[in-house]
Amino acid sequence: MKSLKGANGGRGADPYVPGHGDLSYEVLHHDLTLTYALTSNRLEGEAVLTCRAVGRLTQLRLDLALKASKVTVSGHPVTRFRSSGGQLLVTLPEPVEPGSRVTVRVRYAGNPAPLRLPGFDPAGWEELEDGVIVASQPHGASSWMPCNNRPSSRSTYDLTFTTAADYHVEFSGEPVSSRRHGASRTWVFRQEHPIPAYLATVQVGPYAVTEQEGPVPIRVVGPAGVRGAGFAASFGRQPEMMSCFVEAFGPYPYPSYTAVITEDELEIPLESASLSTFGRNFVSDDWENVRLVAHELAHQWFGNAVTAERWSDIWLHEGFACYAEWLWSEASGGRTAQEWAEHHHGLLAEGEDQPAPLTGPTAAHMFDDWVYKRGALTLHALRVEVGDDLFFECLRTWVAAHQHASVTTAQLLAHCAEVAGRDLAPVLRPWLDSPRLPDLPS
Ligand SMILES: [Zn+2]
Repeated sequence: MKSLKGANGGRGADPYVPGHGDLSYEVLHHDLTLTYALTSNRLEGEAVLTCRAVGRLTQLRLDLALKASKVTVSGHPVTRFRSSGGQLLVTLPEPVEPGSRVTVRVRYAGNPAPLRLPGFDPAGWEELEDGVIVASQPHGASSWMPCNNRPSSRSTYDLTFTTAADYHVEFSGEPVSSRRHGASRTWVFRQEHPIPAYLATVQVGPYAVTEQEGPVPIRVVGPAGVRGAGFAASFGRQPEMMSCFVEAFGPYPYPSYTAVITEDELEIPLESASLSTFGRNFVSDDWENVRLVAHELAHQWFGNAVTAERWSDIWLHEGFACYAEWLWSEASGGRTAQEWAEHHHGLLAEGEDQPAPLTGPTAAHMFDDWVYKRGALTLHALRVEVGDDLFFECLRTWVAAHQHASVTTAQLLAHCAEVAGRDLAPVLRPWLDSPRLPDLPS
């Protein structure tokens, strides 16, 4: 079989995020043991990656912005490795056959910082006034760990993280233990569901934890006093939001949910696996903030558990999370989904045609508001066409069939057709494939 070495030519696995990801192998598990000094922003440690070859491998191209000092492959020290341009290129001691596993151990260190990529905001490890957030969508994962940064490569995680004892640490997974030793504390976490690298996060801050009772345990983590005005209507209602979404989308896909609220104001909140990050400016009873608390929670089903195989299908994350906002509005006595659909259809119709189809918005537009709103309108058109019972059955079975895996729009169309017992492409295709905005069905 032809070697897949250089199959990407260093350009990356997904044209929307050039220079990241590799199609020639999968990472199955990350075992990270890291130490972090807040005062100097120095991160150092070791990552053990269990990889599986897709094609015959003679080299391994990992995404890593920090400098590697030592690499071993399946127990053998490797002398031929090179860190440059945000990648760690490892020449394997012997070829790895397709389907075979190889374990790569990387010692690395550095001062992690958000990564830049033309057309995107900087993403990844970021120092706060007092602490750290990691917000990696779509290109920031390699700011703090070696990984295969494409949305279709999913990995489980073990993280052992040591930092100053008076700081609280969160990870996109379940806490296992926390032990103080002198001036430091070591935290251990595990994510047993496979997640894409961009959905892995570390959060560090002088935080307190508030627990909420929902369908699964919910935790609000933030500075003391974050429960100010506006908390009750926003984060205070997360248990009800989760119950609403469990009814609509099926069981919550992780063992728990954590909302981290930073002391710093943040421009936008961001989802990670089983955890979302907000600035304290989102603690507000204003609908424009409340809707985002619902939006990030809904990403746990759509985007995190069920992830688009390619970034061009980002509407499978954002359209669904936006529609969830409308469902929460309806459930909490606000505007109905139909009213929101009419409102946003009217706004989109006032503008120009969209610059590209929903199923291929281009990297420049993938996080534009029209992708979110038109995606939600597409789902609303489906709901009107098939009725509530079939619509929600479609959503629940979609998550059940594909959770912790990657999907495409074509799979969604096939899924809807199967559930409804008829081809729904004639209804959905105009919403998906044309820059022109279809009329809103009623
Ligand atoms: Zn979103």
